Amino acid sequence: MIQGKCHSCLKKCRDDFCLPCRKKLFNGKKMSAVLPFSRPEYNRRKQEQAGRLSISGVQSKYSLQQNGTRLDMTETDGEYILKPYVPGGFENMEDMPANEHVTMQIAKQVFKMDVAECALVFFKDEQTPAYLTRRFDVMGNGEKRLQEDFAQIAQMSEDTNGNNYKYEFSYEEISMLLKKLVSTYTLQAERFFQLVLFNYFTNNGDAHLKNFSLFYDPLLESHLLTPAYDLLNTRLHLPSETALALDLFKDDFTTESYVQNAFYAYDDFMAFGEKILIRKNRIEKYIHQLSDKEDDVYALLDTSFLSEESKQTYKKYLMDRLKAIRYSFLTQRAL
Ligand SMILES: [Zn+2]
Repeated sequence: MIQGKCHSCLKKCRDDFCLPCRKKLFNGKKMSAVLPFSRPEYNRRKQEQAGRLSISGVQSKYSLQQNGTRLDMTETDGEYILKPYVPGGFENMEDMPANEHVTMQIAKQVFKMDVAECALVFFKDEQTPAYLTRRFDVMGNGEKRLQEDFAQIAQMSEDTNGNNYKYEFSYEEISMLLKKLVSTYTLQAERFFQLVLFNYFTNNGDAHLKNFSLFYDPLLESHLLTPAYDLLNTRLHLPSETALALDLFKDDFTTESYVQNAFYAYDDFMAFGEKILIRKNRIEKYIHQLSDKEDDVYALLDTSFLSEESKQTYKKYLMDRLKAIRYSFLTQRAL
């Protein structure tokens, strides 16, 4: 538990949550960042639900419901998803909830991207962290908005495409489905481009098919991309992970830059943007924005709940990617 800052936006605050964040997350209600149940209680409940003792049962996320000024576990009508820290497996696992929380805040605050509302909370023992996110598919009246992820949209499943199905696709092909399904393509394509670029920048190597979704907006009478979710620096936990979960291009297309250097750089994102029909000056805007906002990103990282060591590692990985994104093979210079 850390006093003195909002557990959602990370700004200085005497309470656990500032007023604007309370409005967005808890319908304006005062809320503690300490959950009313302990990690062992949580594990017990999960095991009861699973009906047997299993590691995977304890590891997965759980739904929460707001009851006045407290958040309780629930099997039905969950408005929040809680993702607790899971020990073991990969590196720096105790920092995973803080990693997801700060990465989502960087997307939201620094790059003004549309992302799910989220916070970092602690189990009753005040030591064990968990990532909390408000479900954006549950509307004010409790009704659920229909949404589909791109594995469903592309009709890719374990049965038809094997257990690697979430990764057997390209970001270019997702944009082609987007073009078919949304009436405001230009705007949605820019949101999508910015998100793919952001994932590369923040070392998110696990943005697979199920991490992009559409929902239907009855007012606009169109499908739209949902707010972004599951954004985190996966390299902090798995240093050897691939740079992106999917290829940028379909049909094994590669730029000359990629053939020469074997990493995605400026030319690749320019080519990707042009292929998915984004105007050149808009592509450049999103690319240059990463450099322009570099200091703001580091400042937010410094105020995050990450350990000091993870903050430094996260920054180092960001600098690596910025260097790659700034490098243009075509002009043979760093931009
Ligand atoms: Zn706040």
